[in-house]
Amino acid sequence: MDRLDAFLKRLDADAALIHRPENIRYLSGYAGEGCLFVSRDMRVILTDFRYVEQAGRQAPDWRVARTTSERKGPEIARELAAEAGARSMRVETDYLTHDDFLALSEALTGVELRPMAGIPEALRQIKDAEEISCIREASRIASQAFINILPRLHAGMTEIDAKIELEFEMLRLGSEGPAFDTIAAAGVNGSLPHAVPSKHVIAEGELLTLDFGATYRGYLSDITRTVAFGGVSPELRAIYDTVHDAQQLALEAIGPGKRCCDVDRVARDYIDARYPGAFGHSLGHGVGLFIHEQPRVSANDATVLMPGHVVTVEPGVYIPGVGGCRIEDTVIMTSDGFVNAMHAPKHLIEL
Ligand code: ZN
Ligand code: ZN
Repeated sequence: MDRLDAFLKRLDADAALIHRPENIRYLSGYAGEGCLFVSRDMRVILTDFRYVEQAGRQAPDWRVARTTSERKGPEIARELAAEAGARSMRVETDYLTHDDFLALSEALTGVELRPMAGIPEALRQIKDAEEISCIREASRIASQAFINILPRLHAGMTEIDAKIELEFEMLRLGSEGPAFDTIAAAGVNGSLPHAVPSKHVIAEGELLTLDFGATYRGYLSDITRTVAFGGVSPELRAIYDTVHDAQQLALEAIGPGKRCCDVDRVARDYIDARYPGAFGHSLGHGVGLFIHEQPRVSANDATVLMPGHVVTVEPGVYIPGVGGCRIEDTVIMTSDGFVNAMHAPKHLIEL
């Protein structure tokens, strides 16, 4: 209810239609398909037969309007807009397909349709206590899964094997599913920041980067750990140490009142002095119901971090033909610092 109140305060329109699943869940608690109609006095879930009961259970304070093939969403939206006396309505033009938007425009003649302009996303940046407890649980599951599979990781297994171990373990520990497509990249594949796990057989002397996350009550976590198989070369060890130190420096720099771009620069300057150009992505991103949300911990995001912001800190070094390394934690800003939600070890583990 607090979230919905805050949303209506910023709406600056008579009503809104919300289609993005994360925003539907955030504002109503409902996690099925369909959309929301919201006005000052009305809150309605529009969905089809398959989800009517679920909507009633997950969002008992909301009216449910059942869509059918004869009476589709846009037509019901028109009736609801008339009932609410709405002359202006915000819709997620950055999410709807062109066809969806045309259908709404045709149905809602006389109602001015305005872009949502990221209002729910802006609210979602600052997590409340309930959201933080879900992210902490998703983080605990991911960290523990990493610790639990370490004895099962060995040279001779494939990247896909490693991914299966991780995802199985997270499910066993209570994850609702992977937070995103798990990354497992060994050897020279490690220089691809978003490598797709392959049948590459992990060999002694290689680094393996695992980037993964769990889901708990819809909330996600995001962690990366890089491990070594057998003794790695001084070159790979130096890469690992550089990333490890850069991440530590960034964690020392982060906190409430700090600007995202300044935290990014701490890690970037450190890596660029040693491996120029090898850290080509931003330092981190917000995490919540969606894996990449605002704010971005990047050179061009001047957001001042505040209590309730949840962001990743994930520097990396990627050298084509040699390999790569990334270390990532999900951290939660508090009034006097931050909580690192990840308890998995970060020293170089040699298996
Ligand atoms: Zn990640
Ligand atoms: Zn990440």
